Amino acid sequence: MAILPRCTFAIISHPDAGKTTMTEKLLWFGGVVREAGMVKSKSGDYAKSDWMELEKQRGISITSSVMSFEYNHRALHLLDTPGHKDFSEDTYRTLTAVESVLMMIDSAKGVEERTIKLMEVCRMRDTPIVTFMNKYDREALDPFQLIDDVEKTLRIQCVPMNWPVGSGVDFRGVYDFAKKSILSFKNARDPFTPTFVDASDLDAPELKEFLGERILNEFKEQMQMAEALMPAFNEQDYLDGLQSPVFFGSALKNFGVKETLDMICQVAPTPRPREAVLAPYTSDADKVTVDPSDNEFTAFIFKIQANMDPKHRDRITFMRVCSGKFTRGDKIFHVRTGKEMRVATPLMFQARDREIVEDAYPGDIIGLHDTGKYQIGDTFSMGKKLIRYTGIPNFAPELFMRVMCKDPMKAKHLEKGLAQLSEEGATQLFIRRTANEKMLGAVGALQFEVVKFRLMDEYGIDATYESVAWQGVRWLKFEDESSKSEFVSNYNTFIMHDREDRVCFAVRTEWDLRLAEEKNPKVKFYKNSDYVD
Ligand code: GDP
Repeated sequence: MAILPRCTFAIISHPDAGKTTMTEKLLWFGGVVREAGMVKSKSGDYAKSDWMELEKQRGISITSSVMSFEYNHRALHLLDTPGHKDFSEDTYRTLTAVESVLMMIDSAKGVEERTIKLMEVCRMRDTPIVTFMNKYDREALDPFQLIDDVEKTLRIQCVPMNWPVGSGVDFRGVYDFAKKSILSFKNARDPFTPTFVDASDLDAPELKEFLGERILNEFKEQMQMAEALMPAFNEQDYLDGLQSPVFFGSALKNFGVKETLDMICQVAPTPRPREAVLAPYTSDADKVTVDPSDNEFTAFIFKIQANMDPKHRDRITFMRVCSGKFTRGDKIFHVRTGKEMRVATPLMFQARDREIVEDAYPGDIIGLHDTGKYQIGDTFSMGKKLIRYTGIPNFAPELFMRVMCKDPMKAKHLEKGLAQLSEEGATQLFIRRTANEKMLGAVGALQFEVVKFRLMDEYGIDATYESVAWQGVRWLKFEDESSKSEFVSNYNTFIMHDREDRVCFAVRTEWDLRLAEEKNPKVKFYKNSDYVD
């Protein structure tokens, strides 16, 4: 059987823009779900998906997972990014494991804060982006205004592939530029038998009858402007992350979703070459590029998730295959520990279902059962090849809490719990040795609550927090040992060590950071941990 080309992607959006709704619709096209929240199980039944205990309590989605499905002769892996109210480093890191993204914008609101942050991470790798302007079944902003907002705020050129005809109660459908016809909103719920209304002649009486005079006149005006102003789609510009094809529609009403998915299947890149270094990294001469077509298997861990199955209290490590082929039972080499291991039960995912896989190819995500051996960013290879993927860094947290426990007898327990939970990568543990303090860093405040809940739930520890007004952290690289000891002694109250014992600098104010950088030319300050061993 031919191997389907892979498409590994994620959805980025601000909370409430419609990511969950869109995910459900995509899974529906992929035959994985039957209706919202109904997920197909191994036996072929549809069951309501259950969620982690905390999610049930809070009614929000904290876990993120991998959803694999086939559509239009492509094997798609949709990596879900943690969704509501707050987000974590996980969200950022997921973006390092995908080749492209679908960006959802709430059309009544335009570009929102979270989208801007996620876009910054996409830009680090020039990730190609397809845009979906959602909720056109409701009152929405003028399409030109929305496009202008995306172009100016996110600095990416937009190319509309379709155009909304009215919005809210006036919404009649979307005009397809290629087909010169309007996909009618009337039968929106049945996207497999769409109704098109010919719009090749804007003066045709049938069109006037369909739209009504007011909406037709508005539409004509917009079409004139769109044709004069909008650039043509250029696939290379899309692949370079410079241009985004834009669709207007409604995820909730399943309108415009199929067209978006068709486009993704048509243009989204298959796995691309990736940057790595030969370990141990000593200089830029050790940088290499690994092509997906290389015969040797390589993969890296981008996510660790605990207790996906509360009955088993296990962890699942998510590994993204970058090159070569993996076959069940293969011995793979864990570069960080230098150990070879045989993977007897590699898992693939269908929503929340797991299935044992026989073979995996570049772009695929494999789940490994983990008892605590692995860390985010770990690389696997075949044949004991010493290689390490870069670009899966720890991102500098922006929020910090000093963690203590009510029962002093449990201090050791607390450290162990914090260390284990931070191995999963949603939070980072730093130790300030001068004051024997445990500092927890995160990029989103909700993670602190998650850790507190889990410390109690899984470790029986009642932890308390004290918030610390730091702004960030920098990983440090020293030119030599003497510059290291000098810096560490001069700045000892700023010094923390991360989980891997790397020296970090706590940023209390931007001013402190600038001064420290200026005064210490032999010390490099990094916003992520990529090149710091
Ligand atoms: P998420 O936070 O980005 O995952 O957003 P959700 O998918 O949970 O959607 C947030 C809210 O917007 C929910 O109440 C959805 O029903 C609603 N919603 C999502 N898409 C649409 C849409 O296309 N039209 C309308 N009217 N509502 C939508």
